[in-house]
Amino acid sequence: MAQLPDFLKTESYVGGQWVKAESGERLEVNDPATGETLATVPRMGAVETTHAIAEAQKAFEGWSNRTAADRATVLLAWAAAMRSNAAALASLLTLEQGKPFSESLVEIEYAASFFSWFAEEGRRLYGDIIPPHRADARILVTRNALGVVGGITPWNFPSAMVTRKAAPALAAGNCMVLKPAEATPLSALAIAALAEQSGVPAGVFNVVTGGREEAPHIGRALIDSPHVRKIGFTGSTAVGKQLMRDCAGDLTKVSLELGGNAAFIVFDDADIDAALDGAQICKFRNSGQTCIAANRIYVQESIHDRFVEALCERAQQIQVGHGLERGVSQGPLIDHRGLEKVERLVADATGKGAKIRIGGQRHAVGGTFYQPTVMTGVTPAMDIAHEEVFGPVATITSFRKEQDAVEMANNTPYGLAGYFYSRDVGRIFRVADALKTGIVGVNTGLISTEVAPFGGVKESGIGREGSKYGIEDWTELKYICLAGL
Ligand code: ADP
Repeated sequence: MAQLPDFLKTESYVGGQWVKAESGERLEVNDPATGETLATVPRMGAVETTHAIAEAQKAFEGWSNRTAADRATVLLAWAAAMRSNAAALASLLTLEQGKPFSESLVEIEYAASFFSWFAEEGRRLYGDIIPPHRADARILVTRNALGVVGGITPWNFPSAMVTRKAAPALAAGNCMVLKPAEATPLSALAIAALAEQSGVPAGVFNVVTGGREEAPHIGRALIDSPHVRKIGFTGSTAVGKQLMRDCAGDLTKVSLELGGNAAFIVFDDADIDAALDGAQICKFRNSGQTCIAANRIYVQESIHDRFVEALCERAQQIQVGHGLERGVSQGPLIDHRGLEKVERLVADATGKGAKIRIGGQRHAVGGTFYQPTVMTGVTPAMDIAHEEVFGPVATITSFRKEQDAVEMANNTPYGLAGYFYSRDVGRIFRVADALKTGIVGVNTGLISTEVAPFGGVKESGIGREGSKYGIEDWTELKYICLAGL
């Protein structure tokens, strides 16, 4: 086994203490590249979650009454701690999640950037003064913290999804109970360890770990608590919908970052090398396990064959292996469930006439490794055109007219990200307007940044994370009418 890095915390973090589950039961955390067990963490349930909520509630008054500048100082220290320990955090991330070390380093910087950004945004949570409706009154509007909030995060970005929620929530004065994904709790616990070192007061940030079986109990305890005023969730559409239904009970606010089915359109006036660079990173980054991955690549007829050939050459050069090995650019899939899904989608597509141009099989490395794959002749009759692949499989369809590409791109219940490559300024505005997604990448396959609002429309979610907009969801407006003046 590779050497385990610092920050390997193996207990949950509640009220500033490292705590075990009452039952004593533990969950194994495995290296997806080898199947080896890295560590075990507590299997916590409703009782421990309720305790964490109480700790967060205790901490709320003190934290929310601090000045925004005071909170910013703590968050900036947290960001600095992440940055100065980036290599150790990145190797822990690679060990539990599988992505190449270089990608983990990028994720750690991205994760830290939310603390820096929202430390500043927290200081600019301005209210308003509204011209009153009567002469003897003044109308004030303030933005206030919600109270205790819950975060539920996925395994594909085990650090960044935590900080993208915790940073705006805490900057606005809330206290958080976080439930990280069962496959990747160690990155979240490492972030908690750095919180402790950076002066985050006990109870302000709590991490409750658990397995797949415990997740609904933890979720329910959060949602049903009268103290928890919001749930921020990133994960599958099915679970997101369930959580939203559950939140209706006592009207807990909810924001959801759910699945995507991103189209990536290459028009014949595009810079093809740039489009290939974009497609490669957008498709194969994190072994295709991102919700903004290019799920359907549409290439205009006249450049289709050239594009396919060049993408296959690039796919051939991808080095597959353990993410901590030098030169590796693609790790394993997270688990066998993920691998079997990719296999099912590829088999369905080839059964209905799609052609494998390269790859199409489990990788010789074994385990959950899958070959970088390029497939052509994909049609809407195939499941792969409708479901998130979450694997390193590029599916290509050719198209004739701009209108056809836009219609195919929008023919999905999802609406997270969409991409296209073109150098025609009229087309750029037309297509950017026409794509029914929350995010549009024009001439780029990389759109994630803390400064811009990330989120989807349609069944891809509700709310935005990051940017000046991302903090609003973690606050409530209060209107104060001062009369009798
Ligand atoms: P994926 O299929 O990518 O694992 P999920 O939506 O199942 O996505 O998981 C995302 C997060 O939601 C994880 O932290 C998981 O434990 C959690 N989760 C799954 N089911 C529930 C549930 N019923 N209630 C609360 N959280 C859940």
